[in-house]
Amino acid sequence: MSAQEFAVCVDGWFDGERHRPEPTSFVVRAGKIADVSAGDHGAELAAQGQAVLRGGFLMPGLVDAHVHLFLDGQPTDGPTRSAHLKKPLEELIDAARQSARQALACGITLVRDAGDRHGINHRIRDEAAQDRNLAAVRSGGLGVKRPKRYGAFMAMDVADAEGIRSSVAQLAVDNDEIKLILTGIIDFDAGAVTDEPQFDLDSARLVVDTARAHGRRTFAHCSGAKGLAIAARAGVGSVEHGFFMTSEILSIMRDNQVAWTPTFSPVHFQWAQSEAVGWSANTVGNLRRILDAHAEHLRRADEMGVTLLMGTDAGSMGVEHGHAMHEEIDRYREAGLALDKTLAAATSAARRHFGRASPLLARGAPFEAVLLDASPFARIDALKTPRRVWRAEVAQ
Ligand SMILES: [Zn+2]
Repeated sequence: MSAQEFAVCVDGWFDGERHRPEPTSFVVRAGKIADVSAGDHGAELAAQGQAVLRGGFLMPGLVDAHVHLFLDGQPTDGPTRSAHLKKPLEELIDAARQSARQALACGITLVRDAGDRHGINHRIRDEAAQDRNLAAVRSGGLGVKRPKRYGAFMAMDVADAEGIRSSVAQLAVDNDEIKLILTGIIDFDAGAVTDEPQFDLDSARLVVDTARAHGRRTFAHCSGAKGLAIAARAGVGSVEHGFFMTSEILSIMRDNQVAWTPTFSPVHFQWAQSEAVGWSANTVGNLRRILDAHAEHLRRADEMGVTLLMGTDAGSMGVEHGHAMHEEIDRYREAGLALDKTLAAATSAARRHFGRASPLLARGAPFEAVLLDASPFARIDALKTPRRVWRAEVAQ
C-alpha cells in the first residue's frame, strides 16, 4: 500500500457534466484516476491492502473563474477597503495567500485571477505550484486599459495601436490570459453603465489578435450593451460581468464562441446589504432590476448554448474568497438553472475553456476532486463543508 495509491468509494458522483447517482469506486494512482468502476468495491480493495476512503459524493474541484486574490472581500466599509489598497506589498501578498488558502478550503481547487497592478497573482500562482494548501492559480497578471479610465488597480495604460501591440506582447510572456478593461463599472444610482467603452471594435480586435498571435486568450471586463456588442464582435475569450446583456449579443457570443462569466455576487451584495451600503430606495430598485435581468439572460444563455463560466469577483466588497462560490451557485439556481448545468459551469466548463485535456472526472484524468458527506442533488448545503479536497498533483 502506498500513499501514492488509494481508493474512494461513494454513493454517487458528478463527472463535471452528468449526475451519476449510483455507488462507484475510484482508484487513484500517482495523482491520476487509474480506475472508475460501478459499485462499492471498498471491501475487496481494502482486502488487497488498498487505503479506502468513503463518502457520500465525489465531484470535480470547483473553479472560480473570476477572483482578485489580493483584495479582501470581507470589509464592507469604504475607508477599510481604501486602506487595504495602500498596505505594503508583503501584506497584500499575504492577503492573497490567505485568499487562495480559503478558496481551497471551500472546495475550489483552481481560481482565475482577474488582475492586480502588483503582479501578486503571478507570485501566488508560483507559490501555489509548490504549496498544496493553496488553490491553483491561473493568472491574468496585469490587464490593459485606456489612460485615465477605470481599472488602475488591475491594468496598465495603452494609448494607441502601437501601445496595444507592444504591451500585449510583453504581458503575454507571463500572463495566462490577457485582460481587457473594455468598460467602466455600473452606476447604481443611474441603474446603467454611463461611460463610453474604452476600446472601439478595431482596437478590441487588435488586443484579441495580438494576444492570439502570442498564444494567449483574452477576457474582457465589460458591462453595458455598447461595450458588450464590441466584446462579442471582437471575439474575446470570455465576457466578465456582462450586466445589461441582450439576447442579440448572446447570439453573437454563441456564434463567436465567447464564454460568459456573469459574477452575480458583487451586485447581489449591494442589493442584499443595501442599508449598510447606504443606497436609496430608488437605487435598491435599480439593483433588483439589474439582478433580475441578469438572471433572465443567464437562463437564455444556457438555452442558446453560450458557454457559462462561474466566477464570483471575490475580493469585491462583501464577496469573500471561497464562500462566495456557494452564493454564486445559489444565484444560478434562483435564476432557474438546473443543478447539473450550474455545477458544470462551476467545474468542467472553465477547465475546458482553459484548454485542460481532461476536464471531467474520468479514467486517466488528474484527480482534482471534492469529497462530500452527501449528494448536493439531495442536500445543496453539502457543498459548503467538503470532507476532503484534492488538488491535482500532476501538471495539466
Ligand atoms: Zn473583477
